[in-house]
Amino acid sequence: MKFSPFLFLAFLLLSCEPTKEIAKTPSLVPEDLKKHTEEFRKEVITVTEGIHVAIGYSLANSMMVEGEKGKIIIDTTGTIETGREVRAIFDQINPYPIKAVIYTHNHGDHVFGARAFIDDENTEVIAHATTKKYINRILGILRPIISKRSSRMFGSAIPEEDFENNGIGPFLEIGKDGRQTSLVYPTKEFEDNLKLTISGVDIHLYHAPGETNDQIFVWLPKFKALFPGDNFYKAFPNLYTIRGTPYRDLAGWVKSIDKMRYLEPDFLIPSHSRPLEDSQEILKHLTDYRDAIQFVHDQTVRLMNKGMTPTEIASEIVLPEHLASSPFLKEFYGTPQWSSKNVFTGYLGWFDGNPATLNPLPDKEEAKKIIAMAGGWSKVLDEANKAIKEKEFQWALQLTDYLLLENPNNKEVINIRISSLDSLGEIQANPNARYYYLSSADELLPSFISPP
Ligand SMILES: [Zn+2]
Repeated sequence: MKFSPFLFLAFLLLSCEPTKEIAKTPSLVPEDLKKHTEEFRKEVITVTEGIHVAIGYSLANSMMVEGEKGKIIIDTTGTIETGREVRAIFDQINPYPIKAVIYTHNHGDHVFGARAFIDDENTEVIAHATTKKYINRILGILRPIISKRSSRMFGSAIPEEDFENNGIGPFLEIGKDGRQTSLVYPTKEFEDNLKLTISGVDIHLYHAPGETNDQIFVWLPKFKALFPGDNFYKAFPNLYTIRGTPYRDLAGWVKSIDKMRYLEPDFLIPSHSRPLEDSQEILKHLTDYRDAIQFVHDQTVRLMNKGMTPTEIASEIVLPEHLASSPFLKEFYGTPQWSSKNVFTGYLGWFDGNPATLNPLPDKEEAKKIIAMAGGWSKVLDEANKAIKEKEFQWALQLTDYLLLENPNNKEVINIRISSLDSLGEIQANPNARYYYLSSADELLPSFISPP
């Protein structure tokens, strides 16, 4: 039979049809988020002789590998103060100098504590060749908006009693209690892979695009120990982050996890959440993680090709039961729904295909017409109050969008908006969504002072 690429594609997509296996994702409740805090209890864990991980000190872990008369640090936490706290313990375990610092990727929670681990120019700082570019981008043109949205998503300004944890770590220490960030650029960069020996330890570094394009993983053959950076942790992967991010390529992420699986590690030491120490279990969880990413990718592509919009697709994406029930895929960080929207825009861009959205009326004009059609501003206000009473908080929130576009300072509407945001936040177990709602509500309070 002559090979037809179209038939092959059709077969691939048909083979992705959901089956009876698909069940509703067991929904998490806020109590689950509270229990999840235990994952980040503060301690330094000795994974195996010579490998230690500091967890619970900061959003991300910092790891130490001991060599002969020297040690290597993988990820540095997010501030100098936290870095120093971790280093003091590492130095007690092993007093020899730090010969190298490795960044798994450019995010602040992994690189901004670097100064605490670097005494002089003899310490090599190793990262992917593009890490510097991405650090500069976060610090440069996107700083105002990323800071604002990060602060909401991480709940940096909400009262302590509303805060549990950040899903992948206990709290974001950047910007907390006057702690300072530091910036040390890589001194040794690589493209695809780099093999080197530091203080007698053989270290293999591999480029592994996933959560970020500059992501790498670290492989120590002697220990069969693998450090996956942020391509794996104990929460559904952040295939899209609501603080805003460039497209995260799911197909590349799947390949990167496969590369890790082939190594069959005995130890898996992620940069967030606790290390794993059973090779069979590691293989199973890596496989489930890969399959979940592949599933979201394939199902989104299938539904996209049917002509469905991102919102419609998101409402249809439900993980199969065997993946939804994995303790490593609970929606404590990313969600399949946000992820599917990321896949859509990654392949097709912002246009959802509906001609009505090609050149829509400006928001203000639409609000004016909808309000007039509904019988006037007071009628819409009544409907918003009714929605709150009937616990239709999302609808109430959307109605306040219209009302505020017409009358931005109306106190009654602002109070309805605060009430709907608080209610939406309180029922959420996903910390990113929870804190985004709660922070947005707090920002509307007269007492709110915008962080510097
Ligand atoms: Zn991270």
